[in-house]
Amino acid sequence: MSKYESINPYNGEVFATFENPDKQKIEESLRLSHALYKKWRHEKPETRAKQLHEVAQGLKEHEDELARMMTLEMGKLLKEAKEEVEICVQICEFYAKHGTEMLKPQKLNSALGNSYYLKQATGVIMACEPWNFPLYQVIRVFAPNFVVGNPMLLKHAHNVPSSAALIEKVIKRSGAPEGSLINLYLSYDQLADVIADDRIQGVALTGSERGGSSVAAEAGKALKKSTMELGGNDPFIVLDDADSEVLRNVLSDARTYNDGQVCTSSKRIIVVKSRYDEVLHELKNVFSNLKPGDPLDSSTTLSPMNSVGSKEKLEKLVNEAIDNGAEVFYQYPEIESKGAFFRPIILTHLGKENPVFDKEMFGPVAEVYCVEDEDEAIALANDSSYGLGSSIISSNIKHAQDLASEIETGMTVINGRWITSGDLPFGGVKKSGYGRELSKLGLMAFVNEHLVIDVTDSNK
Ligand code: NAP
Repeated sequence: MSKYESINPYNGEVFATFENPDKQKIEESLRLSHALYKKWRHEKPETRAKQLHEVAQGLKEHEDELARMMTLEMGKLLKEAKEEVEICVQICEFYAKHGTEMLKPQKLNSALGNSYYLKQATGVIMACEPWNFPLYQVIRVFAPNFVVGNPMLLKHAHNVPSSAALIEKVIKRSGAPEGSLINLYLSYDQLADVIADDRIQGVALTGSERGGSSVAAEAGKALKKSTMELGGNDPFIVLDDADSEVLRNVLSDARTYNDGQVCTSSKRIIVVKSRYDEVLHELKNVFSNLKPGDPLDSSTTLSPMNSVGSKEKLEKLVNEAIDNGAEVFYQYPEIESKGAFFRPIILTHLGKENPVFDKEMFGPVAEVYCVEDEDEAIALANDSSYGLGSSIISSNIKHAQDLASEIETGMTVINGRWITSGDLPFGGVKKSGYGRELSKLGLMAFVNEHLVIDVTDSNK
């Protein structure tokens, strides 16, 4: 028995609890989604593209309700929750508009005969998603696979079950066929059984390295294709020629958006020494001006973390860093609240010998590093077992583009912090996982590239 509970991290109130599904519910869900896959195989993507447009409309219509539920369950600022819904509308519209074209057969030039490959659905996808963007993480898998014709079963994080139920309801009400997304409050053992079921043909997980390796192992055992979108320790490199205004604007939320609980948040701020003091000053300015409060209140700029457990885990990690030599440049004063507030902190002198050096700190913690020059900056950026995103702040765009290719990450933003859009691929290398979500690459994650070749002439 595993616990799915909605707990408001601002006041500790438990407002909903959910049971694991019984065998019958799981079987019925597999049956329904598989039957839909079989039906969809005979339908054109155009039909699903139209339905996906309706889903986008449904999300738009329910923006307030969806945003409010996410804020209640995991504490993000209501303004950011609304932005999340808007990004999801954009992602659905992107695939509704371009998915059909992307799924057209690909002609190949081969001396062996007239050939092409079809882009076909493969079957039901089991998606395992985290709480930090309760809607966006689901839509990143749902929207492309919907157009492809792969139905989705969802195992959402244990602390956002009400959002999961609402997402399922809104998608269903917008006219998506039954079985296209089914939310299940699975235990880990039940999840392993579902992954092993023959009707499941793909496994997508976004989450931690720990969760990723367990679920990837289950997928591997059952020989199911998987994509893993895991943690990050993203470098944010500030070069000597960084434009001060750009730098100030980017730093204004690069480490505090979603209370720093973003896989691609700028966690390691690597600064050439000529700009080090300026960066520390700007960050302190941002952190010290935050206003803690109810995340539903529009004047609040510092939200609680998603849970007391996450807050305590982060505090432990920060203390470990400090005990091993990291210095505190700034920490936000005590916050009088019952909420899961973590006091934003700026750490310096976090050396390679520090046991926390290669760990992801998932919350408002800025690690600031001073380096001699850009070579040292790149070497430090690459000295990580993660490889998700990165940023370079520089006035010389050509040079920044050259440097981007030196960084061992799946994504680099020049003169900005992390961004996302339906038309841009998202994903990492090393322990940040494998595979891509969004864009055409994400659409192809669970597609059968079915080769058809006509060799009639060579057999005459
Ligand atoms: P997590 O513990 O790995 O949870 C993610 C999902 O996997 C949840 O649904 C969770 O269920 C499930 N899960 C975890 N361990 C499992 C296991 N052993 N067997 C089966 N299912 C398991 O991740 P988190 O710590 O909540 O989320 C934060 C992490 O996600 C950070 O590391 C962050 O960087 C990463 N992330 C990555 C991306 C990306 O796109 N690369 C995006 C967002 C977040 P329960 O909740 O029931 O445990």
